Amino acid sequence: MDNIGEILIDEETLIKRVKELGAEITEDYRGKNLILIGILKGAVIFMSDLSKEIKLPLAMDFMAVSSYGASTHSSGVVRILKDLDAEIEGKDVLIVEDIVDTGLTLHYLQSNLLSRKPNSLKICCCLDKPSRRKVPVDIDYVGFEIPDEYVVGYGLDYNERYRNLPYISILNPDIYKK
Ligand code: 5GP
Repeated sequence: MDNIGEILIDEETLIKRVKELGAEITEDYRGKNLILIGILKGAVIFMSDLSKEIKLPLAMDFMAVSSYGASTHSSGVVRILKDLDAEIEGKDVLIVEDIVDTGLTLHYLQSNLLSRKPNSLKICCCLDKPSRRKVPVDIDYVGFEIPDEYVVGYGLDYNERYRNLPYISILNPDIYKK
């Protein structure tokens, strides 16, 4: 764990905030046809915790889009690697994302999913790094705003590692700023 620096958000704080978000979403989606769309792989842990706090019938689906790969800088190119299993026409779609950074991924996903004619489309992210935004994105539910640091844990990886940490930590910059 030498590559892991300061803990930015501890487990207890994460759990508390996820409960609050779940309660808010429960109120907002009562009587609606809710489908959670998780963006693989980073959103998996957040989405599974969040879904348990939404006290409503719901469906889940997943999409995978191209990400940073082994680099910590966005290429700006978004590609669908795995599409949804089911149609979303007429559904109340809530995109569940791990972190919004430049906004390029969500900007693309929003217009792609809107073209499939959902009844509504909203975004819920665990973390938001507003200082890095390149394109504007309206986020409806934000767990935490964080500074411009590369973070890992709670689903977020560096080279596929650290996703299983139960907290959010800052990656030691020495490992990629060489
Ligand atoms: P965006 O398109 O908003 O620039 O990037 C979104 C994606 O980049 C996230 O879903 C995530 O996979 C990756 N990403 C952005 N910032 C971080 C970070 O600090 N840590 C990790 N592990 N991934 C990040």
